[in-house]
Amino acid sequence: MKKLTLSIFLVLLGIVSIVQGKILETAHFHEVVAHITPGSLVLIDIDDTILVPAQMLGSDEWFNLRWKKHESAGFSKSEALEKALAEWESVRHITKMRTVEKETPASIQELQKNGHRILGVTSQGLALATRTVLQLQENQVDLSQTAPTAEDYYVNLDGHSILFRKGVLFTSGKNKGEAFFKFCDSLGLKPKKIVCIDDKASHLALIEAEAKKRSVEFVGLRYAYADIHKAAFRPEIADFQFAHSTFVKLLSDEEAAAQLKITRMP
Ligand SMILES: [Mg+2]
Repeated sequence: MKKLTLSIFLVLLGIVSIVQGKILETAHFHEVVAHITPGSLVLIDIDDTILVPAQMLGSDEWFNLRWKKHESAGFSKSEALEKALAEWESVRHITKMRTVEKETPASIQELQKNGHRILGVTSQGLALATRTVLQLQENQVDLSQTAPTAEDYYVNLDGHSILFRKGVLFTSGKNKGEAFFKFCDSLGLKPKKIVCIDDKASHLALIEAEAKKRSVEFVGLRYAYADIHKAAFRPEIADFQFAHSTFVKLLSDEEAAAQLKITRMP
């Protein structure tokens, strides 16, 4: 009898864990639609999921490279981070962005046309908010269409400002899960199920952990398409672009490679 009770308990536990959350690898953005059910709220990461810079300069890989460089130059971890962040933000203000997959804007528009509730969730800080919204619009993405609110919205998370603007939650490097649910609480939003797509498994895990605490069904899609793009990153090209670009003209990957006499481009 004891054995039977234990088996039933384990089966129930299995059902609960299936209902409450899972993280899956996803090769293409459009696959998100298969996981959406009526009433789902869809959370979409921006960098390396919807958009990437038009060249290697300004990418996430370049940001990590600069951070390490400042650290090895003797700055503390946090000073090095501040410096790299300032450089990254200045490049992101002037760079052109393109979509990771060219079909992504159409997939987002289709979801919106079908009335699905969508919002962007990014680690970017408030300083980039207006610029990022413009860069999304330049790529035919308007995340405000079916967002939970059309208004700008500020949320205070442990003394840090989190901004919701034009359908995008800017979490300023804070825990995406805590920031998202703080936003939900402030707005009186009670999602039953959330579907998140993000190129970083660590960010999905943070959202999953907070969803679990609230018994919100969670599906996390680890977006793998940008992995090829990330693997093609060449530090010497990005460094050259950083050293030789101007405010009005960022060197393309091809221009930098030609000047560096690199013949094999990914
Ligand atoms: Mg990302």
